[in-house]
Amino acid sequence: MPYKDLEKRKQFMKEYYQKNKEQTKEDRKKSATKWRNENRVKFNENARKFYETNKDKILSNLRIIRKNPIIRKKDNSRLKAWRNIPMDGKCERCDNPARERHHEDYNQPLKVNLLCGLCHANIHGSLKSVS
Ligand SMILES: [Zn+2]
Ligand SMILES: [Zn+2]
Repeated sequence: MPYKDLEKRKQFMKEYYQKNKEQTKEDRKKSATKWRNENRVKFNENARKFYETNKDKILSNLRIIRKNPIIRKKDNSRLKAWRNIPMDGKCERCDNPARERHHEDYNQPLKVNLLCGLCHANIHGSLKSVS
């Protein structure tokens, strides 16, 4: 019966949770680190494989990006804003929490509008040329 299975699973999760709760903080930290390390290896391996198979494409894309002054300016402005302007408070246009930084002018990297995703999308709906 599927219902019984569900109950069983619930019970299992409960026990699992209890067991984990009883684990000391130190143990948890250790296993988290272990998990992270194992996965980092896996992640790096995948990234390396991806890089090996797409090397030419990746490198030529990077070259194009580095050569393009407009993209560079955008990237630098975004980075500057990201580093200097904290994303807290509300969207400037509505009451949603602010989630995105909008640059009106990439020549002024620190002049950004903090917006929610919706208002940001709206701005770009009416201002197609800026991002
Ligand atoms: Zn908004
Ligand atoms: Zn924008």
